[in-house]
Amino acid sequence: MSSTTEASALCDCCGSDRLEAIYRPEDSERGLTVHLCRHCGLVQSLPRVDRVPRRETRVSSGADWGNVRYGKGFRAAAAIDRLARRLADIARPAILDVGASRGAFIEALRTLGLDARVTAVEPDMRVLGDYARDETIETICERIEDVDLPSEAFDLVHSCHTLEHLRSPAATLRDHWRVLKPGGLLYVDVPNLAFLASPNVVEEWFIDKHLYHFSNDTLGALLRATGFRAVSLPDPRDTENIALLAVKATKEEAADANDPVARSALRLVARYKERLGANREALKTVAHRLEAMAGDGLVIWGAGRLFDALVRYGGFDASRCAALVDRHLPAYVGERHGVAVLHPRDLPRLGARTVVAMSRTFAGEIEREAKELVPDIKVVSFAWLMAEQAAAPLAAAQGGR
Ligand SMILES: [Zn+2]
Repeated sequence: MSSTTEASALCDCCGSDRLEAIYRPEDSERGLTVHLCRHCGLVQSLPRVDRVPRRETRVSSGADWGNVRYGKGFRAAAAIDRLARRLADIARPAILDVGASRGAFIEALRTLGLDARVTAVEPDMRVLGDYARDETIETICERIEDVDLPSEAFDLVHSCHTLEHLRSPAATLRDHWRVLKPGGLLYVDVPNLAFLASPNVVEEWFIDKHLYHFSNDTLGALLRATGFRAVSLPDPRDTENIALLAVKATKEEAADANDPVARSALRLVARYKERLGANREALKTVAHRLEAMAGDGLVIWGAGRLFDALVRYGGFDASRCAALVDRHLPAYVGERHGVAVLHPRDLPRLGARTVVAMSRTFAGEIEREAKELVPDIKVVSFAWLMAEQAAAPLAAAQGGR
């Protein structure tokens, strides 16, 4: 039996010695204390007792919960969903199932009808499923850290709710990297630290079985540090688990790529470009509508960027409105698009009957102030005008059905 004392422990991800105790579960039988790496943010429990003396099943809300192992079964379907397409592209895939437990993943894999070669590693003999008697499956009843597997032998390593139990997830991930073929896949699923934010939490989350407690960020960093390049982002709505797919990267790829984060930024910019074009087009309709209302004491409140866009992209004829007011801009600019910028306090003498709140953030405030100045004034907001334009084509399409 080995353990690491708190004094000598280093962060498993970054190697820093700046581990700070932040929480002690009140009924930990292993005497675990939860530490935070001040350098990389990985949350980890110490000491790292890596041989559990007892494997008793405990259904408990305390830190001693463990060895029930039914949760893994629920995760297999999600894994297969994300892996099916990629596995179908590989001829006779060699798959390493780490912590195979009762065989939920192997069962789910069978539904794909693949001609796969499966190696199952599971240290607990009592939970081994039917797969252990299946001659086509190589079952190794040992801890993954003690198993010596050939290099570059697997197309996929599946690791579900295993990393958090290990003495060194980094060492095991580096070994997964070694046993994977170039470009091979790693599917990882671990409990999510985000669960701590659950408002109704009553059960001890830092259980004795778990030495590492990953967030999206720290799991991502650990995968990069061990030579993997994530190819999918975890589901942001899942606050209980983090499941993601990574590929064995070359050293260069692993060093420069935070692929899913980069891709998410690219998607965001692409959507923005599309929306910007569509919204600027919609401004033309908004401008026509406002011009039609212009005879009726129309005042634009807000002479800033939204007003500029209304004129520049919508072609709004600013000379048609009764006035342009702004609380702050008169101190900086006298006019915008040929119209004097006045202070809102002038609203009553301007004959204002309708105010357009050209502000995204302060529309509510403008409405309140406008009604204080001119009690029966009508106020419409920029957001409302734009939403109307967005809804119009939809309503037309539905009406035409
Ligand atoms: Zn660290």
